[in-house]
Amino acid sequence: MWAALEPVGRSSHTGGYRRFAWTREDHDLREWFAGECASRGLDLTEDRMGNQWAWWGDPDGATAAGHAGVVTGSHLDSVPDGGAFDGPLGVVSALAAVDALRDKDFQPSRPIGIVNFVDEEGARFGVACAGSRVITGAMTARRARSLTDADGTTMAEALEAAGRDPHAIGRDDETLRRIGAFVELHVEQGRGLVDLDHQVAVASDIWPHGRWRLDFPGEANHAGTTRLEDRQDAMLGYAGAVLAAREAATTHGCVATIGKVSVVPGGVNAIPSAVTGWLDARGSSPRAVRRAVADVSSMVEQAGGTVAEESWTPSTPFDSELTARLQTRLGGIPVLGTGAGHDAGILANAGIATAMLFVRNPTGVSHSPAEHAEVADCLAGVEALTTVLEDLAGEPT
Ligand SMILES: [Zn+2]
Repeated sequence: MWAALEPVGRSSHTGGYRRFAWTREDHDLREWFAGECASRGLDLTEDRMGNQWAWWGDPDGATAAGHAGVVTGSHLDSVPDGGAFDGPLGVVSALAAVDALRDKDFQPSRPIGIVNFVDEEGARFGVACAGSRVITGAMTARRARSLTDADGTTMAEALEAAGRDPHAIGRDDETLRRIGAFVELHVEQGRGLVDLDHQVAVASDIWPHGRWRLDFPGEANHAGTTRLEDRQDAMLGYAGAVLAAREAATTHGCVATIGKVSVVPGGVNAIPSAVTGWLDARGSSPRAVRRAVADVSSMVEQAGGTVAEESWTPSTPFDSELTARLQTRLGGIPVLGTGAGHDAGILANAGIATAMLFVRNPTGVSHSPAEHAEVADCLAGVEALTTVLEDLAGEPT
């Protein structure tokens, strides 16, 4: 499975991946997923947002009988120049865990589902976990449709170009009802497991996090003939915001990043008439994050700019009972918090019993071509997930 996924959307220059929602690469990945599910005889369905769900067993019959399914999986899309593991490791491990259960003739008493969430990274339209946000109602269909990518294409247009009906998207209670428990396996995006010398951990919570759009107005003019005192250079305010974000994060004990910027007109010899930057801020304490963003906002406003909140996700604790059950069943593995958002967090916020497993990342690097996990650790992850599915789907509740 890993070898089949390896070339899809991979840059020959950097080795990084560009797998954005509703693109050719995304289409190929969805086809790959459908093929893997078909070859296992799993029933594939799509929800209103196009997330793919493959079922071993009848999810509706079980839900009616009060035994909703046990679901695992993750996403196949990537950030710009992303790594191979963030997302695909969870999907591939889910398929491998089903194979392992079948090899041992396991008969689930609750249906087991595997999901491939669409548009988890938000790399194209700016909102992370768009697939799970829309089906849980955390983002309205109307807002999703109007999100715009860097080329000015709206999500509605992208959906149409991918052969889908943008007006069919929306909250999907029928799909949500089928999920009795959700366990997402993911490569760790930090060095917690390296420090603890373990291969696999269970997640405690996701830090609160958000994204803000910072707009700075200016006036385009000639870079050679315009005197310094006559300039309205949008870049100056933006530069101040970058430094302010770093300082605010240090002061309040959280993390803040401005990793995306757009400059108009974007000419070497033109004074910028508009600069837009995107601020990402997270931390274990929501108060600290809010304070840091307030500091940046006041700086932006002093520079004549504006700040708009694009997303805010509160601190997300995973289901304590489910997490404790996984930890016990897996021999007392470590419990770690994370600063990264996941579809698992969106489902947890929607009231679904949700947990996560992390697989050791030797460098802690992620969202980069250098993201890595050793094969032995990946296999330990599959084994852990297999144990978890066997436990959760093994006994009628
Ligand atoms: Zn991910």
